[in-house]
Amino acid sequence: MLLANAGVNVRVIERLPTVGGRCSAIREQGYRFDLGPTFFLYPRVLERLYKMLGRDLHQEVPMVRLDPQYRVMFGDSGGDLLCSPDIDTMAAQVAKLNPEDGKNVGRFIAENRIKLERFRPSLESPFLSWRDLISWDLIKLLPLLRPWKSVDGELSRYFQDPRTRLAFSFQAKYLGMSPFNCPSLFTILSYLEYDFGVWHPIGGCNAISEGMARTATEVGATFNMGEAVTEVLFEGRKAVGVRTDRGETYMADAVVINADFAQTMKKLVPDRLRKRWTDKKLAGKRYSCSTFMMYLGIEGRYDNLHHHTIYTSNDYIGNLADIETNHRLSDDPSFYVQNPGVTDDTLAPKGHSTLYVLSPVCNQQTSLDWKSLAPAYRDKLFQSLKKVGIDDLEKRVRYEKIVTPDDWENNYEVYRGATFNLAHNLGQMLHLRPRNRFEDLGNVYLVGGGTHPGSGLPVIYESARITTRLLLQDFGLDAAWLGVPGAKDETAPVTANS
Ligand SMILES: Cc1cc2nc3c(=O)[nH]c(=O)nc-3n(C[C@H](O)[C@H](O)[C@H](O)COP(=O)(O)OP(=O)(O)OC[C@H]3O[C@@H](n4cnc5c(N)ncnc54)[C@H](O)[C@@H]3O)c2cc1C
Repeated sequence: MLLANAGVNVRVIERLPTVGGRCSAIREQGYRFDLGPTFFLYPRVLERLYKMLGRDLHQEVPMVRLDPQYRVMFGDSGGDLLCSPDIDTMAAQVAKLNPEDGKNVGRFIAENRIKLERFRPSLESPFLSWRDLISWDLIKLLPLLRPWKSVDGELSRYFQDPRTRLAFSFQAKYLGMSPFNCPSLFTILSYLEYDFGVWHPIGGCNAISEGMARTATEVGATFNMGEAVTEVLFEGRKAVGVRTDRGETYMADAVVINADFAQTMKKLVPDRLRKRWTDKKLAGKRYSCSTFMMYLGIEGRYDNLHHHTIYTSNDYIGNLADIETNHRLSDDPSFYVQNPGVTDDTLAPKGHSTLYVLSPVCNQQTSLDWKSLAPAYRDKLFQSLKKVGIDDLEKRVRYEKIVTPDDWENNYEVYRGATFNLAHNLGQMLHLRPRNRFEDLGNVYLVGGGTHPGSGLPVIYESARITTRLLLQDFGLDAAWLGVPGAKDETAPVTANS
């Protein structure tokens, strides 16, 4: 969208018949599901990109802000929290679990607001070498970022009740990490929800991908759908084009890779051409968790179930250890269920609705045999859903699709089925992540969750801006319209009631 708007001749080559990748739609029997993302957060990034194109995101993709944002249930007997973006309401909810903690909600929000504002320039700039770390003046930010702490450790400065810490830290899921290992910087994720909202685009998050494809076409990009790149073509170590499974060759001055980073390197770029990101190095990196997914078309609707419900295992810590280190399935898994029909009636035929169930599980580093494991895990989740009030599911399901970590790897080309990409530990962030102007190859640029700044929708849209700016500058084209990193955000702030 951005490159085409700059007058560049852009051809998008996409192996699937639908746009959006992880953020695409499943459309079956009149039901429409998001394949992946269901929380649209921090719309400012995309609002800004649309504004640069002279358009209004909210006109192109209508969306609603949720209140309550979601319900978090703590095991089957630990109570719950109904999380509201209204800080007084939220403080009152938190105070029910621990009165002292309730008083600290406002302080948590205020301090994280400052943290985001100070860190934002680094999220908006390319990190092309370790020198950028120094020019960014990391040292000054250390007391604020406290990199030696985890998200959970940082939250204990505000909240004593582990349930409240959980409600402000499960968002590490967006990065596919445990709040006990995830760097403390990422408390900004839950903060973002409160200041900027949890949004539901009408039609689902996939409507954003579809809207962007529409806009990209209008500004001149061409889409080759259902055509897979089988090889990146090189002269020496400079990319000169791609070959596809239709036997076509497309020559190009630059190749922008959005496909999963590790998978693409392994499959499409010869190992001998890579210095920093060889197959061996890729195998030794840390990757996010994976997810077991169920997409269910339902007769009727569960009106007593909120739009988003997060159920955390009775043994939350044990469940995280099973995902991150033990690489096995838990007896009482955590899961998340989305019941979007309570907000959006465009997703199912009349009298029907959809449920989306996600359970975080280990990635395929240890190659679990999902063909044999999936049926039992599906039955376990059907049982578990009773804990959130869904007790007659079997007889109401009219459509059912399951996606396992094995499917993420083999049907969606995601390395090890690690749905949230390379993990976001400090050793794999900033200049240590694969760079937007890819350091191993000439004329190759990266965009998406595998490069800087990282995984998650707002962040991958920011990566698009960083990468476009670099590419335009490298080719002597005007990049000024893409704005200056860290410049004051000129988009109107979104209030809790908007
Ligand atoms: C289950 C799940 C839930 C999530 N929930 C959230 C959420 O609530 N909020 C949030 O912000 N983020 C969420 N995320 C993360 C978010 O979806 C990702 O960060 C983001 O969509 C990744 O985008 P990407 O462009 O990096 O990769 P992708 O979306 O995977 O795009 C890569 C594209 O490349 C294509 N491709 C691959 N190989 C080839 C080839 N050889 N030739 C041509 N095309 C190819 C793929 O088909 C795909 O379309 C979730 C992710 C998952 C999986």
